[in-house]
Amino acid sequence: MKNIFKFCCLIFACMGSIYMQAQVTQVIAHRGFWKTNLSAQNSIASLEKAAQLKVYGSEFDVHLTKDNVLVINHDNDIEGVLIETANFSQFSQFRLANGEKLPTLENYLQQGKKFPELQLILEIKTHSTPERETEVVKQIVQLVKKLAMEKQVEYISFSAHMCSELKKELPHSSVVYLNGDLSPAEVKEKGWDGIDYHYKIFQKNPQWIKESHQLGLSTNAWTVNRGEDMQQMIDLGIQFISTDQPLELNHLLTK
Ligand code: MG
Repeated sequence: MKNIFKFCCLIFACMGSIYMQAQVTQVIAHRGFWKTNLSAQNSIASLEKAAQLKVYGSEFDVHLTKDNVLVINHDNDIEGVLIETANFSQFSQFRLANGEKLPTLENYLQQGKKFPELQLILEIKTHSTPERETEVVKQIVQLVKKLAMEKQVEYISFSAHMCSELKKELPHSSVVYLNGDLSPAEVKEKGWDGIDYHYKIFQKNPQWIKESHQLGLSTNAWTVNRGEDMQQMIDLGIQFISTDQPLELNHLLTK
């Protein structure tokens, strides 16, 4: 009897250890690793520097120009010119803070392909109409398939419409919702793969992390830059943290 008890304890300990290993928080460099020399947000350099840190993934933001060129930029506009209403050539003189030209998604993915250990976390920004958003999804999916990068690219969006369109096009890819207004059960019902919410949403609804995992959804908190907030998310068992401070987060996780 005593031996059976010991055996059961051992099994539970092993299961616990496997569970803990599965729950180790991983790092996503928000807009690449840009708070470092010769880098800039959403630059090709920021992607390369994120790869050097050996983090799980590097996040970046995608828009479609009026003449259907997919470009990497955070804001909807560049120096006051709305990307969606401008042709790509209108940005030919524009330079990022590190001197790079405005990257296209094709440039970006080609560079990312050189770092197969790094997941590319592609945020599709909202566009003005559902029709345009459907077109953006179509163009992105075509490009990812052309480059045979389906396994390396994961998708995030604030747009429910885009998440659903993506999931239709790429049923085997990870499509994760950013907007913070749906519970894990509602996200599961939509058929998406996870929640990537502002960390304050998880502070208000800490049970959503466990609930998500029980439903088979992934969890990610953005954009967590302070050590105490990082530690709180880690303690809650979050799977991923997006941060502008990937070095600090790496340090915290390896302490
Ligand atoms: Mg983003």
